[in-house]
Amino acid sequence: MVGVTQGGVHAEPQLLIQNNSEITQHTEIVDITKMGSAASEPMPDIEISPTIVPTETPTPWIPNSLSEYQNLVEFCKRSQVDSDQWRHALNQVTFPSDISDEAQKRLPDRVDIRPSCNFDFQNQPRAIVLHYTEGSLEATIATFQQPHNSSAHYVIDRDGKVYQVIPEQFAAYHVNCYGNRNLCIPSCPVCTNPDGSFVEPRSQTIGIELVNLGHVDPRYYISPTSSANGGLFEDYNNSFGYRFWEEYPQVQIHSLQILVEDICSRWNIPLDMVMGHSRINNNVDPGPALNLFWPRYGNPMRPSIFQ
Ligand SMILES: [Zn+2]
Repeated sequence: MVGVTQGGVHAEPQLLIQNNSEITQHTEIVDITKMGSAASEPMPDIEISPTIVPTETPTPWIPNSLSEYQNLVEFCKRSQVDSDQWRHALNQVTFPSDISDEAQKRLPDRVDIRPSCNFDFQNQPRAIVLHYTEGSLEATIATFQQPHNSSAHYVIDRDGKVYQVIPEQFAAYHVNCYGNRNLCIPSCPVCTNPDGSFVEPRSQTIGIELVNLGHVDPRYYISPTSSANGGLFEDYNNSFGYRFWEEYPQVQIHSLQILVEDICSRWNIPLDMVMGHSRINNNVDPGPALNLFWPRYGNPMRPSIFQ
């Protein structure tokens, strides 16, 4: 114990492990000597702890080089026109997805790139913000491809297919205080720098949109043909002021889990920095149907999406 204290008390964690292993070996050598002198019997086989090999350090993730996005940046620098012809040209621009190969293999389909010019260059992600689209995949992409409109890094369709719109190293226009801290909610976790100064949340977040209508009037909601593709969720608590919400299909949630896990591991983002848009702006998305960390109360019930 003394040795442990002397060797490890002020050391870095790695050093502590190393010192402990040395001490363990030393103790065992002493024990062997005692046994040998106390008895003339043959030395029993004694299992000596193998040398502790330090845990292999995982290869650090290296973000894509900014030069990979040069085509997109150059294209967007040219005049942006709200026309079908311009959008067609934009859709020819491509860049490598940020999603790891391992994650892409687990997704139901390959990731498609549907680029947008609605970004700026300052993003240091430390949170993931989730949204619903309130419309179809194509309507959402069309909005994101309109010049000077909104955007998000990813869109997940209801069949689980993932589309990347903006490189993660760029800021997408999915959360905004419009230069005024008071336009975001007081407890916003990504609107303030460590020194207390204001910061736009888009410059520290990755935005994911899920194709979903949000709150709906059940009298006019047209159920999808397959129940696996959604249906309605009834929130008994009316927690966001509405009772009926379009469901998030399981296959879509599965892709969300894979994508969030991948982003969190690459950017070292803790799970408690995965949040709904409603934690930043006075919005209700993604709503009570997307029960991130809590069991869902209502119909149908569901265990939490992230543990
Ligand atoms: Zn939103």
